[in-house]
Amino acid sequence: ATPTSIMVGTGKAAELGILFRRGEALQALRNTKVIALDKTGTLTKGRPELTDLQAAPGFAEDDVLTLVASVETRSEHPIAESIVAEARRRGLALAEPETFDGKPGFGVVAKVSGREVVVGADRLMAQRGHDLGIFAATAERLAGQGKSPLYAAVDGRLAAIIAVADPIKETTPAALEALRGLGLRIVMITGDNRRTADAIARTLGVDEVVAEVLPTDKADVVKRLQSGGAAVAFVGDGINDAPALAQADVGLAIGTGTDIAIESADVVLMSGDLRNVPNAIALSQATIRNIG
Ligand code: ADP
Ligand code: MG
Repeated sequence: ATPTSIMVGTGKAAELGILFRRGEALQALRNTKVIALDKTGTLTKGRPELTDLQAAPGFAEDDVLTLVASVETRSEHPIAESIVAEARRRGLALAEPETFDGKPGFGVVAKVSGREVVVGADRLMAQRGHDLGIFAATAERLAGQGKSPLYAAVDGRLAAIIAVADPIKETTPAALEALRGLGLRIVMITGDNRRTADAIARTLGVDEVVAEVLPTDKADVVKRLQSGGAAVAFVGDGINDAPALAQADVGLAIGTGTDIAIESADVVLMSGDLRNVPNAIALSQATIRNIG
C-alpha cells in the first residue's frame, strides 16, 4: 500500500472510532483468517449480575452472602462487584476483611469476622479439597443457561453455589455475522467454565471455544491458532488480554478497557461496539484493493 492510501484508510477508520496505532496493522488485518475474541467485557458487557444463590445444608443464604460480599469488597473482579451489589440490595451489613488473597483466574481466599472464606471457581474448590457433588446437578443446569457457577466455602466447609450472568452486548450478534460474512473463523477464549462457555458459544454461533483458560495462558492459545500458518487477530479488553494482544498478528483492544490492553494493541476500538472489527477488516481490504 502506498503511504497515501494508508492515510485515507486510517482517516476513514478514525471517523468510525477505529484508531490504528501502527500503520502496518491496516495491511496485516487484510490477511486475517482467524479472529479470536475474549468473552468477558468483549463479547459480553463485562457487568455480570448475581442470578442465583443456594446455601448448602447448615448454612443460611444471607449469612453466606454477607461473608462472601464482605470479602469481595476488596476484589476488583466484575464478579465481585455483582456479589457486593446483591448484598447491598438485600440490605446486608458488610464487614471489613482481616486478610485478603486474590488468586487471578481462581478466586479469593480471605478472613472476615474471624471466619475463613473461600470464593471462586470449581478449580479453586478442588484445589482446597471440596467435593462439589451436592451442587453438581444445579451447576450443570445453571451453566446450561449460560450462567457462570462459582462456590463459597466457610471455615473449610462448602457453603453455597452462586451463579452470575453477564449479558451479551446488543451489537455482538451483528458483529459476528459480519465477520462470518468476511469468511473468518471465529474463536472465543475465556476463563469461564466449559459448559457455560459452550452455552454462550451456541447462542452466538462461534466456530471454536477455548474455555477454562488461565489469565497467563491466553497468549499460548493465540500461538496455537497461529501454528497452522493462519494470520490471527485477537480482540480483548482486560489486563489479562495484554500478552494475547501482543502475540496476535493484529491485536485489537477495546478503548473502554484497561490501559495495559490498549498499550499492547495495534488497533484501538474507541467504543465497545464489536461491529467495528468487521468494519476495520473491510476497510483494510478496500484500502489495499484501491492501490491496484
Ligand atoms: P473471566 O473473567 O473470563 O471469568 P478470570 O480468569 O478473571 O476469567 O476468572 C476465572 C474464574 O475465577 C471466574 O469465572 C470465577 O469463577 C473465578 N474468580 C476470579 N476472581 C474471582 C472473584 N473475585 N470472586 C469470585 N470468583 C472469582
Ligand atoms: Mg475481558
